[in-house]
Amino acid sequence: MKHYIVLALILLFIGIIVFALLKIKAYKEIPHVSVLMYHDVFYKKELPSKYTDKRGNITDTCVVSAENFKKQMDFLKANNYHTLTLDEFYDFVINGAKIPPKSVLITFDDGRKSSYINAYPILKENNFNAVMFLVTSKIPNKTAAFNPNKYQRMSKEEINNSKDVFEFASHTHKMHEKESETAYLLLKSLDEIKNDLTESLKLVDKPYFAYPYGRYNKNLFPIIKESGYKMAFATSKGKVRTGDNPYCINRYGIKEKYSMNKFKRFAD
Ligand SMILES: [Zn+2]
Repeated sequence: MKHYIVLALILLFIGIIVFALLKIKAYKEIPHVSVLMYHDVFYKKELPSKYTDKRGNITDTCVVSAENFKKQMDFLKANNYHTLTLDEFYDFVINGAKIPPKSVLITFDDGRKSSYINAYPILKENNFNAVMFLVTSKIPNKTAAFNPNKYQRMSKEEINNSKDVFEFASHTHKMHEKESETAYLLLKSLDEIKNDLTESLKLVDKPYFAYPYGRYNKNLFPIIKESGYKMAFATSKGKVRTGDNPYCINRYGIKEKYSMNKFKRFAD
């Protein structure tokens, strides 16, 4: 009798494992998209020491070398990845629109000038689409000479010159700030935030938003929607599927230290 119970328990255990594996497999096969997130892209020879350790390895998590970025984009190109536009991505998440099986959404935060100087030509060469989230109160009127040692942002002219690749969306107007380590979006009144987001929307091309520092709470969702935005991007890792909440979209922040294999897993 005892043997039968043990056997039954083993069979039950195996059954549960098989069921779980099939479930995971089925879930993985549901159409999904990865959203990739970048900030600064510098060639190794121009890297300021503030972004590296003593041996010259990049330690700043917001910096990816242009050499690595090029390899990643070449991989996407060679493997027939489709780079979605924001509206294509929205249509997939909200309406379940069909998209090519290998699709990604490439995004950049902050409107950093290095993205224009170094990433834009690589994206253009591959005929890729990408999104740039701008802090709209901080767009320089004049174009300055590129200086990797300075924190520089894309000028109006550079924004206009790169619309063949970038779609410009919002990263707040004046709220990419912190007070005692707390992000403004978690600190300011909902009215203040709404005013800021409304102002920012006038200065971008597309009604999409990315949370500064990836910080948000769910009280912000209706505010962002009422301000006219269709989606908001966070920084939690994970694939995006139809039916996901459009106001906390997952993104993979790409770091210099990631291997090519890790990048491939993220993109897949
Ligand atoms: Zn940012």
